[in-house]
Amino acid sequence: MTQAQGKPPLFDLCGGHPALDFVNSLDERFTEDGPVERLADYGDLLRFAQQSRLLDVREARRLAGSVPRQAAARALRSARQLREALASVLYSAVDGRPPADGDIRTLEQHFHDASGHRELRWEQASQSPNRRAALEWHWGRFSAHAELPVWMLALAARQLMTSDALERVRACGAESCRWLFLDTSKNHTRRWCSMQACGNRMKARRFQARHA
Ligand SMILES: [Zn+2]
Repeated sequence: MTQAQGKPPLFDLCGGHPALDFVNSLDERFTEDGPVERLADYGDLLRFAQQSRLLDVREARRLAGSVPRQAAARALRSARQLREALASVLYSAVDGRPPADGDIRTLEQHFHDASGHRELRWEQASQSPNRRAALEWHWGRFSAHAELPVWMLALAARQLMTSDALERVRACGAESCRWLFLDTSKNHTRRWCSMQACGNRMKARRFQARHA
């Protein structure tokens, strides 16, 4: 059993996309004392998915209460494997290097795996909410599976990495941080993961250097 409720929000979601916030959950990747693991257990993974609005409260609670310990541990390992392949490919892209083929194969496997656990359903038209009849993807019988948050993250990552938005992925300009974020600023000039955290710290450092 794992506990998804009762802890305050843990994660700083300044990356602006679940896949980027996910990579940032291994914190302080580039410091001498790092890295720091923010996904310490399966409950953390559920909290992250819930805070990122991939899972709703009900889904997170259901998984927290029903997933056996071994399946939870397996899902956490799978999540970290996905995250590190994403990190490797995204930091390569940000630094203008081609990603390693092994990491691309790992992503491919996760993307296929996630897609393979959805079911196609015919949804009837309905008055409220107002919608037309359509074919839709659902998690269906897999919605109580331990790996659900991993699959959701894989599909979010696939959406980002196979779209033009990939060009807008940046690493924070603070060398000790390098958190990933999606630069949606008008002139594409965002430099920091967050002004509060890194922007102000770097400004203060430059100020000190000038006035030393
Ligand atoms: Zn930063």
